[in-house]
Amino acid sequence: MKAVIESGVARKPARPTPATAIAVARGDGIGPEIMEATLEVLAAAGAALDLREVELGEKVYRQGLTAGIAPAAWDTLRETRVLLKGPITTPQGGGYKSLNVTIRKTLGLYANVRPCISYHPFVATKHPGMDVVVVRENEEDTYGGIEHQQTAEVAQCLKLITRPGCERICRYAFEYALANGRRKVSCLTKDNIMKLTDGLFHRVFDEVARDYPQLESEHWIVDIGTARLATQPERFDVIVTPNLYGDIISDVTAEMTGSVGMAGSANVGDQLAMFEAIHGSAPDIAGQGIANPSGLLLAAVQMLVHIGQADVASKVHNAWLRTIEAGLHTPDVYSPERSKRKLGTREFAAAVIERLGERPQTLNSVAYRQPARRQAPTRAQAEAPAVTKELVGVDVFIDRRERDPESLARLLQRANGGGLELTLITNRGVKVWPQGFPETFCVDHWRCRFRRVDGASALDHRDLLALLGRVRDQGLDFIKTEHLYLIDGKPAFSLGQGE
Ligand code: NAD
Repeated sequence: MKAVIESGVARKPARPTPATAIAVARGDGIGPEIMEATLEVLAAAGAALDLREVELGEKVYRQGLTAGIAPAAWDTLRETRVLLKGPITTPQGGGYKSLNVTIRKTLGLYANVRPCISYHPFVATKHPGMDVVVVRENEEDTYGGIEHQQTAEVAQCLKLITRPGCERICRYAFEYALANGRRKVSCLTKDNIMKLTDGLFHRVFDEVARDYPQLESEHWIVDIGTARLATQPERFDVIVTPNLYGDIISDVTAEMTGSVGMAGSANVGDQLAMFEAIHGSAPDIAGQGIANPSGLLLAAVQMLVHIGQADVASKVHNAWLRTIEAGLHTPDVYSPERSKRKLGTREFAAAVIERLGERPQTLNSVAYRQPARRQAPTRAQAEAPAVTKELVGVDVFIDRRERDPESLARLLQRANGGGLELTLITNRGVKVWPQGFPETFCVDHWRCRFRRVDGASALDHRDLLALLGRVRDQGLDFIKTEHLYLIDGKPAFSLGQGE
C-alpha cells in the first residue's frame, strides 16, 4: 500500500516540501490503532510523507520467519532509510528472535535516544522537574548474544566494548546535546570494576568531551549515578551509557516521568533510523480504542526532525503539549483530579489536530531546529590506530569437578615448559592458588594463568598449542583460552583478585 500525505493545513507553504519516503509498520496489538491516530495527526500538521507499508511482527513470525521480518521489508527499509514502527508482539517460545534487536543490529542503529520528560502538574509524577535524555549504546556490550555454557555449573556471556563503538555513541550524545540546546552530558559506567571494557568507554568519553568545550561533561559510576538519577533527576540532562546499563536506566527514567505510555524513542545509525514508542503491543487493551498514541506520536516527532521537517515536528509537539495541558487524557493517564475528559485513541488524536498551531501555556513549548552541523567524522570511519602486541602468556580455562586447587596446580605444573609456567589459578576471578583462602567458594571452572618465564624468548602461537597438548596429556579438559598480551607495552588483561 502506498499513500501520500501532503495536505491537511489551511495555510499552504509557498514551496511545498517534497514528500519524504518512510517505511511504516503498523505492528501488533494496539499498534494499528495508535499508528492510525499518529498518521492522522501528521497528515493534518502538513507532514510531507510518502508512506511505504511493511509487514513486521507476529504475522510474519507465524509464517515461520523466526526474525519476524519478511525479506521484501529489508528492501523497503534500505530504500527509505527511515522506519516508523508500531509495537510488535514476540510470540512466546519457538526460538523467535527479538525483531528489535535484529533490526538495530542488522541496520547498525547504534544510538537509542529516549527523552524522558515529566508533564507536571498534568500527569502525576514524583519528579516534576524531570527532563532527561538517555542515549544508550545499542549494539555492543553483552548484547552480542555471544554466550556459552562451559561446564556443568558455569555459563558465560561475552561483553564486547569497542573503541569505534564508544566513539560513535559518545560523539552522538554530544552532537545531540548541541543540536537540542542542552548543557551537559553525563557518562555512566562501572569502570571501577571493569577497567578494560567500561574503562575504554569512559576514556573515549573524556577524549570526545574535549571536542565540546561549550558543554559540561561528567562521569558517574553507574550504581551511584543511577541512584542519584532516581532521586534528583533534575541534576541530569543528557546521559550516555553502554547498552545494558542504558537498557535498565532508560526504562527506570521513563517510568519516573509517570507515563511510560507517553515516551517515544529513536534508534539511529549512520545510514538508517527507526522510530517507535517505548511500550509494547499491550494485548490486554488491543481493539478497544483506548490506547494512548502519545509514545508513537512523540517518536514520529523525532522522526520529522530527523528527515528535515523540524517545523512540522514543533507544530505537532506543541499541539500535543497543549492537549495534555487541557486535561484531555487517554485512560492510562486519566485521573479525576488532574484531567478534564477521558478520551479514546481517535478522539485524542482529533484533540491534538484541533490544537495544531497552538502552544502550551504552562509546559515548556518546543522549537526544533535542523541540526546546524553534521556529525564530525569519527575515528570509527578512519583506520584503526596501529598498536604493538606482545604475547606474554595465556589463561587456560579448565572444567574440573574436584574442588582442590592444590592438586590441579600439581597437574598443571607438569605442563610447564616451552618458556611458560603456571603463575596463578582463580575461581570466579578469585585467587585460589598459590595461597588461596579455604573460605573461597569454588565451582567447576578454573582460570589457570601461564606467564612467560623471565628471560625466555618471545612466545608465539605454537608455544600455546604445545602447552595445551601438555595440559591435555595430564587428563585435563580445557574449555577455552584467552591470550595475554602487552599492547603498546602495557598489560592488556586484568589481574586476578589477590594476584
Ligand atoms: P506492554 O508495554 O505492551 O504493556 C504493559 C502495560 O502497559 C499493559 O497494561 C498495557 O495495557 C499498558 N500499555 C502499554 N502501552 C500502552 C498505551 N499506549 N496506552 C495505554 N496503555 C498501555 O508490555 P508487555 O505486556 O510486557 O508486552 C506485550 C507485548 O509487547 C509482548 O509480546 C512484548 O514482547 C511486546 N513488546 C514489544 C516492544 C516493541 O515492539 N518495541 C516493546 C516491549 C514489549
